Amino acid sequence: MTTDASQPTELQMMARQTGDLLLAKGATAQPADIRSVWNAFAKMETVPSKKYSAYDAFKARTAANDAIDRMLKMGEGDKLVRDVRKLRKGAVRVTVDFRDVEDLPRNTTELKEDDEGSKNNFFTPTDPGRKRYTLYIVWQPDKTPNDMPLLDANRYALGLSELADSVFHELLHVWYTHVYPNDHLGHGGGYNDRFFRQRLRDFKDELLVLDKTLKRRPPLRPRP
Ligand SMILES: [Zn+2]
Repeated sequence: MTTDASQPTELQMMARQTGDLLLAKGATAQPADIRSVWNAFAKMETVPSKKYSAYDAFKARTAANDAIDRMLKMGEGDKLVRDVRKLRKGAVRVTVDFRDVEDLPRNTTELKEDDEGSKNNFFTPTDPGRKRYTLYIVWQPDKTPNDMPLLDANRYALGLSELADSVFHELLHVWYTHVYPNDHLGHGGGYNDRFFRQRLRDFKDELLVLDKTLKRRPPLRPRP
């Protein structure tokens, strides 16, 4: 086997192909920044948790941002955010408000949530076609091993995953009330409610994989 110095080696060829791929990707698909899509219509409020000692004002903000990032990282989360951005020609605005259940406002028309029980999250107003919504999301701790029977593959271990799921769920209501305005917010037994359930399910299936892969951090425990 002779080496012709004028010809590229196999390694150089491979490097060139990789370079071409990277270039092609950069040139054709402008990487869409889903965070900026989100920031165009959503803002965040946090009321630090009195219950979970780790949630001082700064950490509450970080945790809320991390929860939103986790939602955006999911294919279904990305898709939903783009869908909401298209509602009413981009006029819909959402505030996501994280707080303890004791700090929830009492004078709002509370939507009794939900098919999975008493997480107490809700969105308001529940009328279709509005331009401004608030999603109230209750702080969630990490589960302890005692909370997580090994057989229960359907639950998140991490509080952040639970929060990401909650934001997705309430935001899905906002989308749903615009697209199917007469179908009981998605939790009814109507034909269109299956789209609501399906999207919840798809998101959850995706996030459960990540949740179970992530290394456990020290659990967030209530104050003694
Ligand atoms: Zn719901």
